Amino acid sequence: MEFRQSSKLTGVCYEIRGPVIEQANALEAAGHSILRLNIGNPAPFGFAAPDAVLAGLVARLPEAHGYTDARGILSARHALATYYSDRGYIDVDEQAIYLGNGVSELAGMAIQALVDTGDEVLIPSPDYPLWTAVTRFAGGTPVHYLCDESAEWQPDLADLEAKITDRTKAIVVINPNNPTGAVYSPEILAGIAELARRHSLMVFSDEIYDRIVYDGATHHHFGALAPDVLCLTFGGLSKSHRIAGFRAGWLVVSGPRAKARNYLEGLTMLAGMRLCPNALAQHVIEAALTDHTLDELIRPGGRLEAQRTTAWQTLNELPGVSCVKPKGGLYAFPRIDPAVHPIRDDEKFVLDLLLREKIHIVQGTGFNWPRPDHVRIVTLPEAGDLEVAIRRIGRFLDSYQQ
Ligand code: PLP
Repeated sequence: MEFRQSSKLTGVCYEIRGPVIEQANALEAAGHSILRLNIGNPAPFGFAAPDAVLAGLVARLPEAHGYTDARGILSARHALATYYSDRGYIDVDEQAIYLGNGVSELAGMAIQALVDTGDEVLIPSPDYPLWTAVTRFAGGTPVHYLCDESAEWQPDLADLEAKITDRTKAIVVINPNNPTGAVYSPEILAGIAELARRHSLMVFSDEIYDRIVYDGATHHHFGALAPDVLCLTFGGLSKSHRIAGFRAGWLVVSGPRAKARNYLEGLTMLAGMRLCPNALAQHVIEAALTDHTLDELIRPGGRLEAQRTTAWQTLNELPGVSCVKPKGGLYAFPRIDPAVHPIRDDEKFVLDLLLREKIHIVQGTGFNWPRPDHVRIVTLPEAGDLEVAIRRIGRFLDSYQQ
């Protein structure tokens, strides 16, 4: 008898770790070296965790071997409450903070606690596909609103509004955005807040890249901008502090919490069902909040900024390829003009690129983008390596037929 996955997984799709990765692993096992431009994991590209964070982990090891409160240790939650209050959040205390094993775990919990079968969640297209996957897994229906490439990938408010129905429960905002690198303007965020207000929707604001912004761009926290809207802001240390493997993340509840008492009871129960997040990582959150080693990486000429610029420039030099300049995050999301390079199946394109060039990128449709005319490239390798890799992708494209 065959053991089959449950029907709950039907339609759940997470391409970043999807089938192409099996092929990449097989190639590696056969002795090939693969350039992994498919996942935003800073460590393999030589990004060190901040010394203060590592020292904190070592120092706290002896006291971090027990379960903690399901929502996380008080000192870290208190530090986060102060951090967000300093950034304009109103009425945020320890009770408003939940720690988790990364944003990934908390996103799943937050959606599970809210969504009934058939409820709709508005999610950007393109998206970070976790949000679509956890919505489907919860029995909900992801409804994708468009982000507009011709407007630097800002969300299209008219499209968002047109997609609100009486089944809509929440709007997901990803800012700074993965995969596009857009940093949303206060006007766009105010527009989203107005829709949430008018239709009594909860907002899930995934701000894991909040500190990774370039060219003087300012990131605006949704919860600070719209203190009257029930908002869950998600953040963590995976990217800004380069410790993705330690799994340190959090969510902050802001807005009219009294109206969400029942929902928050559910969320607290889900937190309790996994007992607690990784205790050791919780102990370094407080120190991490005052660590500024990232500044050196994102300043003009800093490593992350330079890599972003090189990727963007090199992509735009390829015939038939154009890329909006990413203002934040760790990715570029170039368009491959179908008139120049007719690609019907972008997953096959990505697989063929992997087999021939040993470069692993992710197809745009993996981010719930409706057409096979984009790919996402991680901008974590050193600028020189990134330039060489992108030029190889360009040469591959020139000779590619589907
Ligand atoms: N949200 C976005 C937009 C991401 O890009 C990622 C990781 O790439 C995550 C959440 C997951 O982060 P974590 O490591 O905190 O689970």
